[in-house]
Amino acid sequence: MKTITVLGATGSIGDSTLDVVARNPERFQVYALSAHRNVDKLLALAVRHRPEVVAITDPQAAAGVAARLRAAGLGTRLAVGADEVVAVASTPGVDCVMAAIVGAAGLAPTLAAARHARSLMLANKEAIVMAGRLFIETCRQSKVALLPIDSEHNALFQCLPPRHGPSGQAPGEAVRRLILTASGGPFRTTPIEALDAVTPDEACAHPKWSMGRKISVDSATMMNKGLELIEAHYLFDMPAARLDVLIHPQSIVHSLVEYLDGSVLAQLGNPDMRVPIAHALGFPDRIASGATLLDLAAIGRLEFAAPEEARFPCLRIARQALAAGDGAPCVLNAANEVGVAQFLCGRIRFGDIARINQSVLEALPRSDAPGSLEEAVDLDQRARRLATQQLERFSS
Ligand code: NAD
Ligand code: MG
Repeated sequence: MKTITVLGATGSIGDSTLDVVARNPERFQVYALSAHRNVDKLLALAVRHRPEVVAITDPQAAAGVAARLRAAGLGTRLAVGADEVVAVASTPGVDCVMAAIVGAAGLAPTLAAARHARSLMLANKEAIVMAGRLFIETCRQSKVALLPIDSEHNALFQCLPPRHGPSGQAPGEAVRRLILTASGGPFRTTPIEALDAVTPDEACAHPKWSMGRKISVDSATMMNKGLELIEAHYLFDMPAARLDVLIHPQSIVHSLVEYLDGSVLAQLGNPDMRVPIAHALGFPDRIASGATLLDLAAIGRLEFAAPEEARFPCLRIARQALAAGDGAPCVLNAANEVGVAQFLCGRIRFGDIARINQSVLEALPRSDAPGSLEEAVDLDQRARRLATQQLERFSS
């Protein structure tokens, strides 16, 4: 039996994770679940999975929860506040932690899990974008097994050679390119001049994946792919020049590794996050995920195309941040979180997200790569303040 903590249990990745866990009851026992403020859902999950601890970051939302846990006949302990979530993520001896909080709010608990868990399943890409070097160094020092959950990175992980192959050849010597596929999102064929009029619900109506609203908007702007380029750079120690993006509307090929000899290995599967999650949960075994099996004859055709620069400026901006290095990815991530939140509540236009990202990235003076959690949080806050000031120029 492995013990598991799910940070962000009430979200889309949390749902998929607990579904795979429930399909494999002989393998997993839930230790802790966290949520921000969706208390009703958290309580329902507690009844189903009987964790030792539930953690709620928003203290107001936590009122009355302890009594409801007792009334449900559960001996579950309640932890309240962001620091308590970090403490839960730091519990020594937990086998797996799924880091599935969205955004910069996930950095502190994800880093804590990188220090204390046996294996860390990373969905919270913003954490590695904010503090890539610190994050990777922390994982190395604590010897945690780092398993990528993002479908592209999980695909790359599956297609890459083991870190220390029998001949001693480093993966970086054998591999020419990592190619991340991208569906192109809901606006792949929308006339570019119509993009400023799209609504939050249209941006969140992803043609292939069902996800939380922040990552859905990121998929529509393709900042998601930009964040994923940065994520791949840190996870696989690959220079930007050897990272490529390929549009693939069917979302069946999840990414590809091109080797020096011209071989290309890809991982395929239906677009269902339970596939990469089950891969990581079972690793190195394979376990049932509940996903429908792939029927290529029924799908018939797979298409590929290069991304259009003019349609997806966020992709270029992310490459700019990756090339600048140091604190630039953290700055870009913060600006993007502010822009996406403002777009989702109707205050700015869709195209303003890219405009804010670009202007914050250029306006904030160069800064060192965050060497500690505090430095990352400080840089994130500075970039957010600047992004918030810039909003006045854009708000509609
Ligand atoms: P979601 O919005 O559905 O869920 C987010 C979770 O984070 C919820 O449990 C919520 O309670 C928690 N949360 C939100 N704000 C918080 C805060 N301030 N403090 C603590 N907890 C907070 O998001 P999601 O789609 O499940 O995505 C989660 C992460 O996984 C993101 O980083 C996303 O980029 C990544 N990811 C998601 C998918 C997907 O298919 N959904 C795929 C790849 C990567
Ligand atoms: Mg992805």
